[in-house]
Amino acid sequence: MNIELLTQKIPVGISQCVMGDAVRYNAGHKHSRVCTQLLGRCFEYVPLCPEVAIGLGVPRDPIRLVKSDPSPDAEVRVKGVVDEDLDVTVPLRDYADSVAPELQQVRGYIFMQNSPSCGLRGVRRYLPNGHSHDSDGVGMFAARVREHFPHLPMEEAGRLNNSEIRENFLTRVFAYDAWFRYVEEDPRTARIIEFYTAYKYLLLAHHQQQTRELGQFIADSKAYEPREFAFEVRGRIMAILAHMASRKDRTNALMHVQGHLKEFLSREEKAELTRLIEDYRVGLKPASAVLTLLRHYLPRSPHHFIHSQLLLAAEPAEMGLCDFH
Ligand code: SF4
Repeated sequence: MNIELLTQKIPVGISQCVMGDAVRYNAGHKHSRVCTQLLGRCFEYVPLCPEVAIGLGVPRDPIRLVKSDPSPDAEVRVKGVVDEDLDVTVPLRDYADSVAPELQQVRGYIFMQNSPSCGLRGVRRYLPNGHSHDSDGVGMFAARVREHFPHLPMEEAGRLNNSEIRENFLTRVFAYDAWFRYVEEDPRTARIIEFYTAYKYLLLAHHQQQTRELGQFIADSKAYEPREFAFEVRGRIMAILAHMASRKDRTNALMHVQGHLKEFLSREEKAELTRLIEDYRVGLKPASAVLTLLRHYLPRSPHHFIHSQLLLAAEPAEMGLCDFH
């Protein structure tokens, strides 16, 4: 299996105000240039505004998350700030259910932060008396989308200004997209193993322990029904990639690749590669410097395993989508 990345733009859902459309309660927008101009080079956006879609209009009175009481498992509803009788909890959930078939095609979702509809984390919640309670809420629409698509890569627009978070989101979207192109339609165990094998060193760069556990789980594939097995593997792969790739774990993965190539390198070439990996480990060189040299030596190896490694594919920094680090 040779998985190709970025053959065409990948469909990604997005909060419509992030696109620059004036759909917010105050008739404003939250345009993100990083999303539209930078990530728009590889994403084909599906913009949705749930509050407009359920008929709240623009401009509109604001809404907020309200907990029925302070206890941890108290019910959370979405209510009007001005008109306390307004309750749009069910319409927002129903709207998410109605667009779920359309969202089957997306391979990621960018949500607007701090919104009672779209926020992914840390949304402010209030008590019925109007007092602010905590900032542990999730937007009602976003929460429902997550229920429909538990492995879909999701991120908040504001966090994507951070280059490392952006790189991580791109890596997850590329992997989720690749899974659907290579496995989802034909989830035979052999194809799942091929997929895991191609991603193995990239996964190791994100979380060594969980990657080893996934390898053990895959070795036990006969104990599971095929669809259940595919769902579990997909979930584990996406969970591993959600960890930021640490320099230490990435160094370890690069050394594994080096190990596969060393029999084809001269003593001087081996020394140069070792020096470069060490420079990367201590922060003197970006990962792309090591990857470039590894790719240069790659044609010398006849082994398909190493040629198929997604770790060696062009990384988001090399595509100009985030900083080199
Ligand atoms: S955060 Fe969501 S609901 Fe609010 S304006 Fe943006 S798209 Fe619409």
